[in-house]
Amino acid sequence: MDFSRVELTPQQQSFAGVVRATLGQLMTPDVREHERETGDGFSEKVHLALAERGWLTPAWPVSEGGAGLDPICQRLLELELERHDVPDITAGTTLLVWTAVEKFAEPELRGKLKAGVAAGTARFCLGYTEPDGGSDIAAAKVRAVRDGDEWVLNGSKIFTTGAHNCQYTFLITRTDPDLPKHKGLTMFLVPLDTPGIEIQGIRAFSGERTNIVYYDDARISDRYRLGGVNDGWAVLHGPLDEEHSIGDGEDGLADLSIGRHFLRPLEAALDSAIGWARDSARADGSRPADDPAVLARLGRVATEIEAGMCTPGPMGRVKGSLALVEGAAELIDLTAPLGVLSPGAPGAPGDGSIDYAHRFAQGTATYGGTIEVFRTIIAQHVLGLPRPGYPGSKVFLPRSRAAAGTPQS
Ligand SMILES: Cc1cc2nc3c(=O)[nH]c(=O)nc-3n(C[C@H](O)[C@H](O)[C@H](O)COP(=O)(O)OP(=O)(O)OC[C@H]3O[C@@H](n4cnc5c(N)ncnc54)[C@H](O)[C@@H]3O)c2cc1C
Repeated sequence: MDFSRVELTPQQQSFAGVVRATLGQLMTPDVREHERETGDGFSEKVHLALAERGWLTPAWPVSEGGAGLDPICQRLLELELERHDVPDITAGTTLLVWTAVEKFAEPELRGKLKAGVAAGTARFCLGYTEPDGGSDIAAAKVRAVRDGDEWVLNGSKIFTTGAHNCQYTFLITRTDPDLPKHKGLTMFLVPLDTPGIEIQGIRAFSGERTNIVYYDDARISDRYRLGGVNDGWAVLHGPLDEEHSIGDGEDGLADLSIGRHFLRPLEAALDSAIGWARDSARADGSRPADDPAVLARLGRVATEIEAGMCTPGPMGRVKGSLALVEGAAELIDLTAPLGVLSPGAPGAPGDGSIDYAHRFAQGTATYGGTIEVFRTIIAQHVLGLPRPGYPGSKVFLPRSRAAAGTPQS
């Protein structure tokens, strides 16, 4: 890994200044308040303002609605979006899905959507998880049945984050229940205003909004199919690998891992705890900051943040979440009872950022794939170990036994 500093050209420095100034203006108190109230991870006003500058699709040429940024400017933009707490979950899911739309959508639809993605008016969410099929996405049961040039959808998806702010969901469906699990799947880009689709909000522990989406005889045209019938797993692969940070970081500039994003609330909570240690007084008149044990605990959290920042790929996803889960618990314990006060409560250190980090932490071990599932991904994709077998799944058979014709159990 190359830890050397990246020297910015004057143009890149000037671009960073423009981004900081612009995001400073866009992230008004009402945008922050809206995010706190809704937990949407989305502000239409900000989304459209980013689109105007080509910053939703920064790598795309200006002629296609992008900003034509070089990789360093793209990275500068990403970092500033993060530092300014820009609610950009829907922007992220849209770009994840775009990789599949670009590859698999029919040309007319692709052209229309490309313009919409850049303009911020075509937004996509991820319709993978089902109420009884969580981590095992390939066990999808939402049925798509062909009827002439249309498909009829029935079933429900849970945790479709951003559905209420998106125009389309990237839906994994079961088109042939008689084929093996991974083979009877087909992907669609489903317009969310289709009659028969109902979106209901769910609030996560931290106030993050996600959704359950019901499909009740919802009819969509075959033009919204992505890829071949029963070939959905091949379509899903690209967006899924990207979300799992597999194959990241080729130019050394890309985000080290999605886990890095989990550390941002922990940084804010640590700052609040440092303020508390410095400024509050104990019964004996001393400050918590005068106590070496307090300093050691704060230092440990700071070290974990640094370690999380530097850990790449799928390991970084696990590390980022664990650093947040454990670090936030440490800070809650250290600063209690004040630390458990919620945002807006009088006396809450850092306006409740410690409590918020602790609540936000819990979901991070789950979404985008649980940390247990990620450990399996690390074993397979990083360590090159065999795929584990589970009851009902194909059992791994060492090559020597396979060659000898030993039957699978
Ligand atoms: C706030 C939030 C937002 C989300 N947003 C989206 C979204 O936009 N789109 C979407 O499709 N989904 C979304 N999800 C769903 C999320 O990806 C799933 O919750 C997650 O994949 C786990 O599924 P599950 O909750 O059903 O848990 P389960 O899969 O039932 O897992 C239960 C437990 O078993 C463990 N486990 C399961 N399988 C394995 C395995 N193979 N090896 C080891 N351990 C295993 C898990 O780690 C976990 O501890 C979101 C979830 C949350 C909480």
